[in-house]
Amino acid sequence: MSEITNPCISCGACCAHFRVSFYWAEAQDAGGVVPTELTEPLSLLMRNMIGTNTRTPRCIALEGEIGGCVSCGIYEQRPTPCREFAMSGENGEWNEACDRARARHGLPALFHPSLPVMTESYAAAGASELPEHVQSPG
Ligand code: SF4
Ligand code: SF4
Repeated sequence: MSEITNPCISCGACCAHFRVSFYWAEAQDAGGVVPTELTEPLSLLMRNMIGTNTRTPRCIALEGEIGGCVSCGIYEQRPTPCREFAMSGENGEWNEACDRARARHGLPALFHPSLPVMTESYAAAGASELPEHVQSPG
């Protein structure tokens, strides 16, 4: 068993940095799974998670303290962008957006292509556990 803890469970930065928008039909009132009451219209065809379309974003579904212990209140029902957002270093890939969100909240970068050792370490933690920032987060 790996002793490396998934960094997402002590981060949550991406849930408080980006506008989380998605096709409107992902919401429950259109047949999807995302709780409609946690979303708001963005355009004719798009919705976003409430709280993420502001100057100081924080998704309404994010629970806990960023950089401390966090979780997603709707982990199984989170929208596509959340499901597709990879932790930097996952599968050996640098996700600049992840590290940028972390930097915005004063958290260190997880990965850089020049640091392959970190990549192997996080890969060993298990990609299937990612992103648990949103597990009950991301
Ligand atoms: S994906 Fe990156 S920014 Fe988002 S919670 Fe995980 S480590 Fe933090
Ligand atoms: S993973 Fe959850 S808390 Fe994070 S932005 Fe998506 S819905 Fe919000």
